Amino acid sequence: MPLPTRKAIIIGGGPVGCLCAIALSNMSWEVEIYEARPDMRLPSSKGTAQQRSINLAISSRGILALQAIQPDATDRCLRAAVPMRGRMIHDTTGKLNSQPYDRNGQSIKSIDRAILNEDLLELAAKNSNIKLFFNHKVTSIDFDGRIMQVEDTATKTQKAVAFHFCVGADGSYSIVRRQLMRVTRMDYEQTYIPHEYLELRMPAGPPLSPGGDPTFLLDPNHLHIWPRHSFMLIALPNQDKTFTCTLFAPSAEFEQLSSPEVIIRWFKTHFPDALGYIGEDALLYDFKNNPRSSLISIKAKPYHYKDRAVILGDAAHSMVPFFGQGLNCGLEDVRVLACLLLSNNVNGSSVPPEGELDEDMLKALNAYTDTRHEDLITISDLAMDNYTEMRHSVTTPAYLFRKALDNS
Ligand code: FAD
Repeated sequence: MPLPTRKAIIIGGGPVGCLCAIALSNMSWEVEIYEARPDMRLPSSKGTAQQRSINLAISSRGILALQAIQPDATDRCLRAAVPMRGRMIHDTTGKLNSQPYDRNGQSIKSIDRAILNEDLLELAAKNSNIKLFFNHKVTSIDFDGRIMQVEDTATKTQKAVAFHFCVGADGSYSIVRRQLMRVTRMDYEQTYIPHEYLELRMPAGPPLSPGGDPTFLLDPNHLHIWPRHSFMLIALPNQDKTFTCTLFAPSAEFEQLSSPEVIIRWFKTHFPDALGYIGEDALLYDFKNNPRSSLISIKAKPYHYKDRAVILGDAAHSMVPFFGQGLNCGLEDVRVLACLLLSNNVNGSSVPPEGELDEDMLKALNAYTDTRHEDLITISDLAMDNYTEMRHSVTTPAYLFRKALDNS
């Protein structure tokens, strides 16, 4: 492999940033990842990272991207995944209705977000072309001068970092996107939906026999949904036999849940079976201690600037989580970008002449924005539509009839 000579900086050490670092390093780039938070692999960081959700669903879109960039990463990242072959709808009387995702038994997989991110960080750290900088918060970027300012939050010092290529994988509130807006004519749209979410833990069940392993309280191979029209509860399985439940509800609904008595009464009315499994004390503990978070949808275009910068993942297209595709699309962004760089003969082993535009890189990034935008907007819109489907439509007689027909 030729020696790396061309330098890419990745802002954000989330799953998308790490996968992109690995992809560029495979193409002989010298890569540096700048991550504002501490290293999540360190014992001192465990439990302190502000996680958006504990687990998430990964589908063939994300798995294909992992396989394409780092084939041996897939087994590693999916070792703790639990397959979900369909939805399980819970009505208010506790009656269950299983709705398979696919006639041939294909599944999406419930995966621990922290394990996925740590695995990708570990793979990046092992790569001699990639350097990782934690506690490094990017504060501004001069794309034309190809230089960015970074604050080392541990030492409270600033430093300037030069680059050839800047990748913004710094999530929904991306500084790279904001800096790009100053130099490109970026169309931008941001929507907060009226709903918020809160995570709740459903414990593992007792072993079947004394001294045996704990058990799942619900069928582990389903994504469980309690659709209640204007709000809903969902549950995804974890390998330790627990479920992570997420309550999605309008802010006004959350506001009414103002005392332990009201919360328990509300759960008894709307989610009696889930309350039985979670337990009243655990439910009240999570309500008191877990954050209530908002949900944002972001659309932007273009994703790139000249031959030297691009935004990927949530930095480019934050979407509401109801289609389970936000991260899957982010991982796919990396695969698509890597393919376009390869097909335009761009790699890290040759440095373009100083002061000149790299025409091949420009072509690749233009093609990236042009070909990627429509797909991302479509998936983002489907994600918005799927909220109505998950909390309401799945309970309607017309939907149930159509689904039964599909699976017959
Ligand atoms: P992030 O994971 O947000 O990583 C960005 C990183 O950049 C962070 O580590 C941050 O610290 C760092 N950073 C930010 N600013 C700076 C800076 N100035 N300098 C340096 N570093 C910086 N997606 C799915 O595919 N399936 C699901 O089932 C699913 N479920 C979800 C459930 C919920 C409740 C939510 C909210 C989202 C869900 N998603 C799901 C979406 C998924 O979480 C995101 O799409 C994914 O995390 C985006 O990854 P990312 O690497 O682009 O960004």
